[in-house]
Amino acid sequence: MLNVLLERFRQGYRTIPYPDVPPVLPDRLRGLPTLDFSLCEESCQKCFVVCPTKALSKDEQGTFMDLGKCLFCGECEKVCPNGCIKFTSEYRLSVRKRENLIFRGEHLQRAEPLEESMKSIFSHSFKIRQVSASGCNACEADINVLGTPGFDLGRFGIQVVASPRHADAIMITGPVSRNMQLALEKTYFSVPTPRFVIASGACAINGGPFIGLPDVNNGVAGGSLKVDLFIPGCPPHPMTILDGLLRFLGRLKQN
Ligand code: SF4
Ligand code: SF4
Repeated sequence: MLNVLLERFRQGYRTIPYPDVPPVLPDRLRGLPTLDFSLCEESCQKCFVVCPTKALSKDEQGTFMDLGKCLFCGECEKVCPNGCIKFTSEYRLSVRKRENLIFRGEHLQRAEPLEESMKSIFSHSFKIRQVSASGCNACEADINVLGTPGFDLGRFGIQVVASPRHADAIMITGPVSRNMQLALEKTYFSVPTPRFVIASGACAINGGPFIGLPDVNNGVAGGSLKVDLFIPGCPPHPMTILDGLLRFLGRLKQN
């Protein structure tokens, strides 16, 4: 026991000073890209062809990247001969509305906080029931990381709980296989109202790498649950999840 205490003393305070100090993230982290499709050559379709989830697409307003479908694999950046797509380590990606994930390289409308009446209830005590709806376990692992001393999710009053009856929200990961659909719905309806739905990861948002497969529901896109917070990534970095949650609860300045 003495050794444990001595080791604890030696290690000192390990929790990151976020949000007072911005996090230090590695350059190799792929977060929000910069997009400049004005540099494209007319006939070049290389990024469209290489994208595994068809996250890159075109409409009457031009080419866009759907951050809800993007796996942040970086393949489009690699094949682009003109440097139109460049990933940055910008980790703040969460939004409240699905359409805000349609990214054209301009301003990203990050998650707005809950309305005032809800904020006063949940901003300092928010319980989450995590539902792994057939994910690969990477999204789940990065949620688990938030419970370690480095991030210490509990200091914000946010806690992952075992029972939906003790929860304020469900956080869905995975593409929602047909086998998990009923369990997901039952879990949702077991959460007392007012309740919230968080889709964390490309799978939960739109099916991720499993998009279009017959045994999955393409995440929340194929179901009837109304989503209150979308957290992109494959998997989302723990800082992306934390940033999204704190924005949602009105604990961060908006930008
Ligand atoms: S980084 Fe995203 S948009 Fe680019 S190829 Fe991968 S999944 Fe497609
Ligand atoms: S979004 Fe990516 S990391 Fe998360 S469950 Fe799906 S495949 Fe795994």
